[in-house]
Amino acid sequence: MTNAQHTPVVPLEAGASPENPPCPACGEPLFGWLAPRPGLAGAVKRCESCGLGVVGEDADPEEALRELDRRREGEWVRIDNRDSFAGSLGSAGWAGLAPDSRYLFTVESVRRLIARRDQVVAASRWQPLASIAATWQTLLNSVTFGHNVALGALGDSRLAAPAAKPWQRRIDALASVVLAIPAALVALPIELAGGLFRRGAVLRLRRQLL
Ligand SMILES: [Zn+2]
Repeated sequence: MTNAQHTPVVPLEAGASPENPPCPACGEPLFGWLAPRPGLAGAVKRCESCGLGVVGEDADPEEALRELDRRREGEWVRIDNRDSFAGSLGSAGWAGLAPDSRYLFTVESVRRLIARRDQVVAASRWQPLASIAATWQTLLNSVTFGHNVALGALGDSRLAAPAAKPWQRRIDALASVVLAIPAALVALPIELAGGLFRRGAVLRLRRQLL
């Protein structure tokens, strides 16, 4: 008899507790991922099964579905993919952690969530330009005090959480300019690989009724 046959198998559900509430998409327990940080509503938990991330407490499937609806663009919904290379490499610096984030989606978590409405993911499209920008910002976030400073300055201030002190904000602005091109040169191959291996940073998904 080998050792493998003696290894007890513990189902993920056994980990459920008040600290590990069920994932609103798939029901498996959520585990701690990131500590609270400025610009976020609380600590971040993640599901090891479907990949959904939850910021703060009291995750709820209906609320997650409503957040998905808010991301609608015509027939599609646009998500920052937590299961992207940018999300894996960036961790707390991942650009998808915008200040208003509550649910951090993956394709699998969207699939599980919309099954409650008898919907399926009919198509998934990688968004190259938005993805390269998100990966670029993720790299810059690793050297700045604030979060998403460059994308905020380029237009979408809702994404940004500037540093607290003026001198930090000045260093962030300088670092974003000086490192813009080197970060782009690194972001490009990461994101092209992301597109190729279905781990792109920004995706559009088309939902369809069963
Ligand atoms: Zn899940």
